[in-house]
Amino acid sequence: MAIVADDDPFRREFRPWLAEHVPGPEPLDQDAKVALRRAWQRTLSAGGWAGPAWPAEYGGRGAGPLQQFMYYEELALARAPWAANAPGTILLGPTLMVHGTEELRTRFLPAILSGDELFSQGFSEPEAGSDLASLRTRAHRDGDDWVITGQKIWTTWAQYSDWCFVVCRTDPESKRHRGLSMIICPMDQLGVTVRPIEQISGDPEFAEVFFDGARAPAGHVVGEVGQGWAVAMTMLGFERADQGFSDHALLLVHLHDLAAELRAAQRDGRLGAAEAAEARARHADLWIRCQQLRRFNLSIAVRGEAGETPGDFGSVVNLFWADLEQGIAELGVAVAGARGLALGDHPAHFLMSSRSATIDSGSSEIQRNIIAERTLGLPR
Ligand SMILES: Cc1cc2nc3c(=O)[nH]c(=O)nc-3n(C[C@H](O)[C@H](O)[C@H](O)COP(=O)(O)OP(=O)(O)OC[C@H]3O[C@@H](n4cnc5c(N)ncnc54)[C@H](O)[C@@H]3O)c2cc1C
Repeated sequence: MAIVADDDPFRREFRPWLAEHVPGPEPLDQDAKVALRRAWQRTLSAGGWAGPAWPAEYGGRGAGPLQQFMYYEELALARAPWAANAPGTILLGPTLMVHGTEELRTRFLPAILSGDELFSQGFSEPEAGSDLASLRTRAHRDGDDWVITGQKIWTTWAQYSDWCFVVCRTDPESKRHRGLSMIICPMDQLGVTVRPIEQISGDPEFAEVFFDGARAPAGHVVGEVGQGWAVAMTMLGFERADQGFSDHALLLVHLHDLAAELRAAQRDGRLGAAEAAEARARHADLWIRCQQLRRFNLSIAVRGEAGETPGDFGSVVNLFWADLEQGIAELGVAVAGARGLALGDHPAHFLMSSRSATIDSGSSEIQRNIIAERTLGLPR
């Protein structure tokens, strides 16, 4: 039997549920997209499918890596939207289960899963992206509160979030990785200003966030005060593991649609014979690489079942995925022709948003550094 058989009981249970509940396609308009994703998060939660990897005691299904792999494949094949609370379900929730107090878990885990409250990730700063340890946002205690001052940037969906988990320096004498803490800060207060930034795709998907004496309750520190670096690394580990399960299936669906587009463009004479032949060759190459990405992700899931983490191999997969995503987006525009260049249309939108693939979850240069130094043992 194949490792991930099509008739696996997990798929047999999830697939019909999806067929019944998946809403229509995601709109391009960001506000409408957020509203749809929020509603979808609630639907998933009501059906018990919002956080399958979470333990049953917190509303999940205790799904292991192979079931998570299947979960994302089924979501992609059903053309389901993303759930609105990914930073909560994938990042903060699992991190709270490792490092959070019982009080924080009780307060936040149900709201994360239901999507009643949205969360954003406050890590990057204007002078601290790849080199996160140089962050400058600071926090000090004042009575029962933390008072936070500083600036975050590229904070995805900050303008929609109720809470931001902010990594800040709580020991003013500390340097680099020491003396940091992660604090869950309420966004709806005078001390927080959110200024959305428009991406090349036209979406104001992320934002600058200014903390000017913003207040958060003393108990809202995730993990020990001063241990924020370890907490942040736990969180990034969850982020990497999750990405490995979700990426290939979405790209395979894109390529499936692109094949139909290509056939139609050739039939309607929008692509000449030579252009069509070149597009077919590119498509076949991308399809093969996408199947390879699936094998990489499957091997990560299989190793995950044995308790292994992807380690440096995660960087190989991330590089491979980013290149593939951009290649598929470029082919989409080539096949769509002039229509593909209109930004309001899907091919151009995908092309523009795909540019972030080599930046957002650790830039490709940083991934290459990791492979060179840790995997290949090359000198720095
Ligand atoms: C779509 C998107 C969403 C994001 N969402 C969030 C979010 O929700 N929360 C959050 O905190 N952050 C978020 N980020 C920020 C992201 O984590 C950073 O962009 C990323 O870590 C890179 O940091 P930087 O942009 O400051 O670039 P820099 O670190 O300034 O790098 C600039 C360039 O220099 C290269 N470079 C840097 N250091 C080295 C080195 N040592 N060796 C070789 N090359 C190097 C980089 O590869 C890059 O090309 C998001 C980014 C994007 C694009």
